[in-house]
Amino acid sequence: MRPSVRPYLAGPGYVYAERPEAIAARYGFDRVARLGSNENPFGPSPKALEAASRALADAHRYPDESMGALRAALAARYGDRAYAVGNGMDGIIETVLRIFCESGDRVVVSTPTFSFYGLAARGQGAGIATVRRNSDFGVDVEGFVAACRGAKVAFLCTPNNPTGTATPVEDVRAIAESIGDCLLFLDNAYVDFSDRDYRPLLDSCENLVIGRTFSKLYGLAGFRVGYAMLPDWLLPAYARAATPFCGVSSVSAAAALGALDDYDHLERTRTHVLAWRERLATECPFPSAPSEANFLMVDGAPRGPDEAVAALARAGVLVRSCRSFPDLADHYLRVSVGADWENERFLNAVRALSSA
Ligand SMILES: *Cc1c(COP(=O)(O)O)cnc(C)c1O
Repeated sequence: MRPSVRPYLAGPGYVYAERPEAIAARYGFDRVARLGSNENPFGPSPKALEAASRALADAHRYPDESMGALRAALAARYGDRAYAVGNGMDGIIETVLRIFCESGDRVVVSTPTFSFYGLAARGQGAGIATVRRNSDFGVDVEGFVAACRGAKVAFLCTPNNPTGTATPVEDVRAIAESIGDCLLFLDNAYVDFSDRDYRPLLDSCENLVIGRTFSKLYGLAGFRVGYAMLPDWLLPAYARAATPFCGVSSVSAAAALGALDDYDHLERTRTHVLAWRERLATECPFPSAPSEANFLMVDGAPRGPDEAVAALARAGVLVRSCRSFPDLADHYLRVSVGADWENERFLNAVRALSSA
């Protein structure tokens, strides 16, 4: 006899990009262009590494349970309001669902989008309502609002993963204002690469939470730190629902503090990503959706994603197949903006693919 695992875990779970080591070994590359996970190609900021190294000496102590220094630094940098930090934005998403959802509740997502919302919602026993995006990957605002009636939490990702497309601020306002007692979780993981600013909505929308991360622009994906801007009324419930110590290690919190302070590293990354995003979109022989993120969603049709991903892997380039994203035709690839040599290698490989 064995205890039974909950049936929702029978699905595939979170889908990761392939390991670069596997591609390197299979095709004999010293290094692989890692364009599968939207990471910062320049690495962590040196200031983050210094701060993290200093924090190691105190690693026998529990962290400050309120993450006070990091939250204060976020308020100084991004505006004086309430902040939560978590074990990646993924940890924050899970905590927010724990606050609002129990078995039988409904959660709304706008597909195709990031898969973890659905996985985490099912973990709470909630059902998922999906609202398909339009053919240009814009959000169907009316359909979304209608689906939120009676739902507990709605997730909207902008700029959206995997499409790269962004939702106008006024559309987000219209949604937040129309859905009353449903919480709108706005996923801004990639907002650092866009000119849009959704923060002013927090002043008037009491049902809005904005999630952000140190994993993308800040280059700290391995440290697992995310943060959220949330209404004051939600803070006490958040503190009670979160994993103790916010689920963030003292070393990761120190790294995040160091990274926040390294303006040069951030600006260098942003400038590089914006210039290359434009160049990749222009020079890639396959069309891509207009992106406001640090990646492009490339339409490899008529090739299926497996064929294109395999051809790129043979050329030493790791990209993410979009096959696993629900409600997306299966000929799309997601390609991160990488370092110069990675982007050049991708362009060469994809040119060869298009002329093959
Ligand atoms: C990367 C990503 C996140 C979360 O990243 P963490 O590493 O957990 O902070 C959240 N949402 C989207 C859309 C992402 O792409």
